[in-house]
Amino acid sequence: MSILLIHTGGTIGMEQTEHGFAPRIGIVEDAVADLTASGQAEGPVEVLRLDPLIDSAQATPDDWRRVARSIHQAAEVHDAFVVTHGTDTLAYTAAALCLSLAGLRKPVIVTGAMLPLTVAGSDGLDNLTAALSAARTAPPGVWVQFGGQLLHGARVRKSHSTAFDAFEAAPSDVPPLLPSRQSALNDVRAHKVGILSVAPGCCAELFAHAAAACDGLVLRCYGSGTAPDTPAMRRALQAAHDRGVPVLAVSQCPEGGMRLGTYAAGKVLQDTGVVDGRDMSPEMAFAKMQFALSLSGDFDSRRDFLGSNQCGEMLGTPD
Ligand code: ASP
Repeated sequence: MSILLIHTGGTIGMEQTEHGFAPRIGIVEDAVADLTASGQAEGPVEVLRLDPLIDSAQATPDDWRRVARSIHQAAEVHDAFVVTHGTDTLAYTAAALCLSLAGLRKPVIVTGAMLPLTVAGSDGLDNLTAALSAARTAPPGVWVQFGGQLLHGARVRKSHSTAFDAFEAAPSDVPPLLPSRQSALNDVRAHKVGILSVAPGCCAELFAHAAAACDGLVLRCYGSGTAPDTPAMRRALQAAHDRGVPVLAVSQCPEGGMRLGTYAAGKVLQDTGVVDGRDMSPEMAFAKMQFALSLSGDFDSRRDFLGSNQCGEMLGTPD
């Protein structure tokens, strides 16, 4: 079984510099070579390094597309894929890969580390070894192997900024991959997507500006789907609707998700055509918005795409 490992950067392959941790070529490559040479990981493992290696804070939808394309182009040659990635935006990339690699019948395992392989006590080698092993055994789809867990790529979130088990994901019966009879690549293009949280007495001008300036908006609402119902908020959300800017609502609560319509205080969202993101993570919501805007369809078909379960990212059966 042959594995392609795509190294994008992140803490796992960093070393200390005068400005703090930064990526260096060769760290992950050497670790993979050592693991296969010592028999701790089964080969062959080909390593593809994305140039330049980045801290994932620098990642953009163009980087998601580069990783997805590399996997799609190598799908005939390799049996499984491992992506080494920075943890800060790993959940966004995992979400984007779920939406990109329609119908891929192979596992894609995304991993990283909280401490560089170059630092004593690093979790990098454990995560790398487990990811290479999961690449051989996991079902098709995009998974995140981290801190001893294999997590659903469409539902994963970074939930801790320092602990080794930094990620969690609610389980789903739906595989983490866009279903399709044939393997196909959904290309994403970068759009102006805003992500805004409501807060008591929050600045309404910010929402009005976002409605005028953005191509799509993710709105982080309270609890099961409420927001301040003020004339200014109504005007802003209506302006977005009138401009054809999709607005996707997700909850600020990490668990449970939205139930739009439970409270009258959520009516402002329904009246202005905001899409109910149910229990989707904000990371997935942001990535899904980029894909919705990359679709060739109109406003309504984008809203349908956003509001329906594509790859287990939200409650409900896939449409
Ligand atoms: N800043 C790093 C990154 O996301 C954090 C990490 O990898 O853990 O690239």
